[in-house]
Amino acid sequence: MGGTIAGAASSASNHTSYKAGQIGLEQLVEAVPALRESAQTYDLLVEEVARIDSKDMDFAILARLAQRVAQLLAQDDVQAVVITHGTDTLEETAFFLQALLGPAKPVVLTCAMRPATALVPDGPQNMLDALAVACHHAAQGVVAVCAGVIHGAQDVQKVHPYRLDAFSSGDAGPIGFVEEGRLRLVRNWPAAKGLAGVASLEAVQAASAWPYVEIVLSHAGADGRLIDALVRSGVQGLVVAGTGNGTVHEARLKALLQAQAQGIPVFLSTRCPLGQLLKRDNESLTTVCDLSPVQARIALMLHLLSR
Ligand code: ASP
Repeated sequence: MGGTIAGAASSASNHTSYKAGQIGLEQLVEAVPALRESAQTYDLLVEEVARIDSKDMDFAILARLAQRVAQLLAQDDVQAVVITHGTDTLEETAFFLQALLGPAKPVVLTCAMRPATALVPDGPQNMLDALAVACHHAAQGVVAVCAGVIHGAQDVQKVHPYRLDAFSSGDAGPIGFVEEGRLRLVRNWPAAKGLAGVASLEAVQAASAWPYVEIVLSHAGADGRLIDALVRSGVQGLVVAGTGNGTVHEARLKALLQAQAQGIPVFLSTRCPLGQLLKRDNESLTTVCDLSPVQARIALMLHLLSR
């Protein structure tokens, strides 16, 4: 899919001012002797679906990726799919694929924090680790592999803008670790089933665009103007990242309730990076306890597409 793992900078010491998605996947695989050897052992099919900076991910590309992953997984001779992806929206793609496909075979996303032209790039080892995960006999569902850590699609979040180990599974903790090509597992793989109440792959393919869903924060001094402007601009769904256990500034809540009364669904998540929302009595918005704001947005869009 591109990303920093396929990124190129003007010098080997430049880790920040580079262009993501510059180098073809064939070339990336070719550059790693151990991957080239694995390619013979595992009959590795190398294919580019897109070559983008994942900050620019859009619906058409996600839909194309989901379709291609589903096609490949349906083939008897395909054991697993590894996706090289940018780090910025990796957690959104991971959640999208798990929610939509809930695959019984492993789909392993991997990435890099340094461009391929760096003096010591992290992409090659991450690709090798991802291949080790993909080949594990018990692997299933969508996972992400970065810096030797295996994260489940439901839990993975990018938590650091620069470190090589930029991802966390928060309170849930990782599924396991890749150590010298071997897996040390500490908990279960993601379930081989998608999210309930979401659109089918066919509905996603048939849609020409995502439903228009935005994420808004609650914060000190929040008011209703942003919500009113979004309603006027035709927003079809809203996710509010509340403070703490899903509390929302009273002025913003009033505007959100008005939007909801007009038929615009509003999902309540939290801006806290760890833990889950605990449901409160008489909550006036739909509380999505175990979804981050970006996951809640994808869940709401898939829900709207199913109607
Ligand atoms: N902007 C890049 C991307 O998400 C960052 C990365 O891959 O680390 O594609």
